[in-house]
Amino acid sequence: KVKTRFAPSPTGYLHVGGARTALYSWLYSRHANGTFVLRIEDTDLERSTPEAIEAIMEGMNWLQLSWDEGPFYQTKRFDRYNKVIDEMIENGTAYRCYCSKERLEKLREEQMARGEKARYDGHCRCKSVQKTHSVDEPHVVRFANPIDGVVIFNDLIRGPIEIANKELDDLIIRRTDGSPTYNFCVVVDDWDMEITHVIRGEDHINNTPRQINILKALGAPLPQYGHVSMILGDDGQKLSKRHGAVSVMQYRDDGYLPEALLNYLVRLGWSHGDQEIFSVPEMIEYFTLDAVSRSASAFNTEKLLWLNHHYINHLDADYVAQHLVWHMNQQGYDLTQGPDLITIIKLFGERSKTLKEMAQSCAYCYQDFSDFDADAAKKHLRLVAKEPLELAKTKLQAIADFDWEIEKIHQTIQATADELNVGMGKVGMPLRVAVTGMGQSPSVDATIFAVGKQRTLARIDKALA
Ligand code: GLU
Repeated sequence: KVKTRFAPSPTGYLHVGGARTALYSWLYSRHANGTFVLRIEDTDLERSTPEAIEAIMEGMNWLQLSWDEGPFYQTKRFDRYNKVIDEMIENGTAYRCYCSKERLEKLREEQMARGEKARYDGHCRCKSVQKTHSVDEPHVVRFANPIDGVVIFNDLIRGPIEIANKELDDLIIRRTDGSPTYNFCVVVDDWDMEITHVIRGEDHINNTPRQINILKALGAPLPQYGHVSMILGDDGQKLSKRHGAVSVMQYRDDGYLPEALLNYLVRLGWSHGDQEIFSVPEMIEYFTLDAVSRSASAFNTEKLLWLNHHYINHLDADYVAQHLVWHMNQQGYDLTQGPDLITIIKLFGERSKTLKEMAQSCAYCYQDFSDFDADAAKKHLRLVAKEPLELAKTKLQAIADFDWEIEKIHQTIQATADELNVGMGKVGMPLRVAVTGMGQSPSVDATIFAVGKQRTLARIDKALA
């Protein structure tokens, strides 16, 4: 049975790269009806924070990437790691290393001088060296990496990868202070948690042969590995803050729907024919690792905006409203003093790429504004507008409250234009500027409907003043 995991180091928020790795890992397990584990790799006590753990889970929850097991915390498993290390020393797959800093430094310098790669020479592997020391002396524990042969694994994304054992060091698995090291914890965790597929960033590809060797020494089953390529900014550099939002929650703040970000991330490095729009059930159905790209992918905000616009207009309006309300509150609107959110979504959906933009542009539906846009007022209010505005006002005022409907408002504007023998625009534009303060808005009848009768009449008065 397939079991995958997402194993973030909690040193900051969940960023889009991590979110994509999590998504692929999640999709892989969902596709196979398997299990998805969340593991917090918090062994780096200096850099891990409770806030980061919070933030990562908040991001996962917002994206609705639910986990079946966990969160597990590595810091709670030190006893287990140490027990495994003691067993390895016992059976000879690991050994205590007493080499002094000075010796290691000298070794390094000599190797560099010979133009070799610096690596531990296995000095303490020797039984006779061990005999000259006592376990009470300060020491680290090293893994006894095989000396000959090669490690081969078939990366599910990149294909076969092979590395000679002589390229690999005798890795330190326990420090002098008694704490187990990162690469070792990962191995024990993947083993204990019975992970079948390790899907992670390509920055971990060099760890894989070492981890495989340790797993073999433990007699543990080997998971399969797939390493996902990097995400680059539009300038070809590794994606970072410089390129704008990188944290998942920043995308929420900027007005994206989780569906849009998920759809964007799944396509960033994976494809299924030329399909662009994927619902989450479709992603689950179609996702396979062999369709994941080996090359780095460039982040494209325009495309993300396009997807967000699509989802704003295609998801159930009630659902979109659940996300919109947060942004409306951010704007400080009193939502009881204006139209319901479904009306706003219908009115502004087509012209909004983000929910934030939508929340900002509908301000005049909830709040009065102090000034008309100068250009719009000059063009549509002054001189030309007195007559149409006055007549339209009289007619709008005559609409009974229960009859305040888009169609009715439309007819009223039409009737005003007919009576004055001018085009619709000669009435509609002044009305638009009067009611919204701006030269652009959704269709004027629907906008007037949303703004409401009392406000509309008051604003026409203000425009006439
Ligand atoms: N903790 C690692 C990271 O956040 C992931 C390690 C792994 O997936 O094996 O980059």
